[in-house]
Amino acid sequence: MRSVDIRRTFLDFFRQHGHLVVPSSSLIPDDATMLLTTAGMVQFKPYFLGTSAPPRARLTSAQKCVRTGDIESVGRTDRHTTFFEMLGNFSFGDYGPSEVVPWAYELLTEHLGMDPDRLWATVYRDDDETPALWQELGIPAERIQRLGMADNFWSTRGPGPCGPCSEIFYDRGPEFGREGGPAIDTDRYLEVWNLVFMRHIRGAGPELEDYPLIGDLPQSCVESGLGVERAAVVLQDVPHIHRTDALLPVLERLARHVGLDGPDELDGADRELSARVVVDHVRAAAFLLADGVLPAHDGRGYVLRRLIRRAVRHTRLLGATEPVLADLGGDVIDSHEEAWPELTGQRDLVRQALAHEEDAFDRTLAQGTRLLDTAIRRTRERREPTLSGRTAFELHDTYGFPVDLTVEVAQEAGLDVDTERFATLMDAQRRRAQRARAPREADSGRDDTYRRLVTRHGPTSFVGYAHSTAEGT
Ligand code: ATP
Ligand code: MG
Ligand code: MG
Ligand code: MG
Repeated sequence: MRSVDIRRTFLDFFRQHGHLVVPSSSLIPDDATMLLTTAGMVQFKPYFLGTSAPPRARLTSAQKCVRTGDIESVGRTDRHTTFFEMLGNFSFGDYGPSEVVPWAYELLTEHLGMDPDRLWATVYRDDDETPALWQELGIPAERIQRLGMADNFWSTRGPGPCGPCSEIFYDRGPEFGREGGPAIDTDRYLEVWNLVFMRHIRGAGPELEDYPLIGDLPQSCVESGLGVERAAVVLQDVPHIHRTDALLPVLERLARHVGLDGPDELDGADRELSARVVVDHVRAAAFLLADGVLPAHDGRGYVLRRLIRRAVRHTRLLGATEPVLADLGGDVIDSHEEAWPELTGQRDLVRQALAHEEDAFDRTLAQGTRLLDTAIRRTRERREPTLSGRTAFELHDTYGFPVDLTVEVAQEAGLDVDTERFATLMDAQRRRAQRARAPREADSGRDDTYRRLVTRHGPTSFVGYAHSTAEGT
């Protein structure tokens, strides 16, 4: 089943169960507590909190998400990308676990055709209602696991609505990992869907385990997240997320660009990892650009720039000597055209911004890499475990190396980086720059190239709402 059919099947199913189909919101959330949209529920936070009323008590959506927190997992697990699409159904004081659990089971087994004998469920340790519901449907007690707050109590990891959850996993079999259920191995037992029973409100707090629950929501709610790419891994029977139909063409182009017949020829774990990083980061960058994020030295623009620079470095590790990101971005747009026409509308902007960033970074990458390699060699010769914060700062300042790129390269060589010293030097520089900068410039932060691109292609920040007349009413 193709990704677009997974999406359509999901939305149709919930439409038939009385849900209003709401379009994805932008990756730039209308929410000061978050940098980027990380889940389907984000645009609905006011409905959960009761500060505004939803258009209907049952909603469903396919939401664009970016989770930069997952960046290190990309290519290392079978299941993580920074950009992904989350399908969700939402109830605001309407139904509860006894409705959504059977629906989820029916949708997965009958409409998407997953083998019921391979499904596992996890539930929150204090939840006695949901295990009984799964058992009634035919999931035996041995395939239901109880987990604690870190796994089965969902929140955005910031303030807002939260609650216990029940997750559904698909057992891909022994060739993918250890036996023992999702509590043991979540690449073999692939998490596909999370059903969250939103009941509480979380205040601001540092640690997930002891964050303060400051109250209950005005009414019990349900929200869910089913990853399109995760479902595609199962239904297309591919080993990992980068081989699903939306990403494979991009991976194939990249392989050809570095002189291979196809991705199967990527010999060695490092090259495979690099290829998967490039493909993921280009896709995330394309969607961010189309939603109006432009490369910049801080905020969202910096997230974008970091993704692009990391992608460039990994294309060079693969042996690419010519620019390639614009073409890969074009492939991303082609393979997502049916589901995300708004991306197609921004083709020129996406290609040109990728080409510009690649070119700009490329010029300093070789020099920066030489400096970094020398610093690493000297540090090791001195038998020190840590690369100096000054080196990291210089790389950032002179060559535009995002510090996590420096950390990544250092780690590959077995070294830590003195990131505290780096932060101190950055702070000092920021203060100097603030003093020097005229007030008029203080809030611009973008270079002229991007101002020109936007003038040429029009502002893009509101593409997420372009189809805002809800379907299916
Ligand atoms: P994992 O434990 O695998 O990191 P998660 O528990 O962090 O996933 P949720 O926050 O529950 O994920 O998000 C709901 C659903 O979104 C997941 O069940 C999965 O299908 C999908 N999803 C989450 N993170 C990613 C990602 N980085 N890449 C692709 N799909 C994802
Ligand atoms: Mg996760
Ligand atoms: Mg999980
Ligand atoms: Mg989860």
